[in-house]
Amino acid sequence: MDEFTLIDHFLKPIAGSRDDVLLGIGDDGAVVRPPAGEELVIVTDTLVAGIHFPLALAPVDIGYRALAVNLSDIAAMGGTPLWATLALTIPEADETWLRAFADGFSLARKAHQLSLVGGDTTRGPLTITVQLIGALPPGSALTRSGAEVGDAIYVSGTLGDAAAGLEVLQRGTPHSAEEEFLVARFARPTPRIALGLALRGIATSCIDISDGLLADLGHIATASGRGARIEVARLPISPACRSVFAKQGVIRFATAGGDDYELCFTLPNDTDVRRLEDTTPIHRIGVMTEGPPGVVAVDEQERVLALRETGFNHFAENTSQETPQ
Ligand code: ADP
Ligand code: MG
Repeated sequence: MDEFTLIDHFLKPIAGSRDDVLLGIGDDGAVVRPPAGEELVIVTDTLVAGIHFPLALAPVDIGYRALAVNLSDIAAMGGTPLWATLALTIPEADETWLRAFADGFSLARKAHQLSLVGGDTTRGPLTITVQLIGALPPGSALTRSGAEVGDAIYVSGTLGDAAAGLEVLQRGTPHSAEEEFLVARFARPTPRIALGLALRGIATSCIDISDGLLADLGHIATASGRGARIEVARLPISPACRSVFAKQGVIRFATAGGDDYELCFTLPNDTDVRRLEDTTPIHRIGVMTEGPPGVVAVDEQERVLALRETGFNHFAENTSQETPQ
């Protein structure tokens, strides 16, 4: 199968259609018409086999994940996704693999009026790069830099499932419904597009959690020039994660695990969150402080916890805290 047959058979059928795509797959470049009066938001994310996902991950999940992680970046910016490009580097043109990959990509695309307008296909070690372009009203992009002292810190969904799922995968195959749930949270993250849209004009900052809560909330703290104080007891943890792993592991996954693709955002303290809760489950986990910029985690007794990738232990109040890099 040559490159062009591959594109015709596996990629054109999953392109989806939009009236604003004047020229899609098939020419040297795509031509699109931006929505009148809107700003464009552009994101890109690469997945390298063996680095961003285990080699054993099913091709349908690889396809899903490649698009979903980019949708998550658009969600974090408060954008509506419009057009995607796909740069696909594959070791060989295996039809079964390609069909499953395309199915997964298509599955992640389904809930959104999104069109695949072009890309590139090359032979080499398995690497997938997706670029997504979205739109939003002028000045309404959510950023990392607007959090104020006293703002409440929220996260969507539950934290730590994806890291727990990755650990399950690395041990072998899942043995229970709970383990399967955790693996699915890694393989098929849920991009929070509806929440991102609802946060426009309300959130003072927003980020998606790809590297772990401490690292990503740390980016909000640094960009905003504020401190962030979170209460570990308030972190939303799924029943599956609690049932499969011991407490220390659960806290490590939830704070340092990464790959959850939930949103972390800040809101003025008195914000009515009911409209947000209508779109997505959210949980209040802490408050922005005077600083210094960085994240401090406390337990129920207000003791500062030193969290790192290998677990946590108690420190006296006011001790500086390590966060994973
Ligand atoms: P060129 O050689 O001019 O760069 P290609 O032969 O690489 O063009 O691609 C032909 C058409 O197929 C282009 O419209 C390109 O955007 C599209 N295309 C190539 N690879 C992909 C892919 N992986 N996903 C979507 N579209 C693709
Ligand atoms: Mg060309």
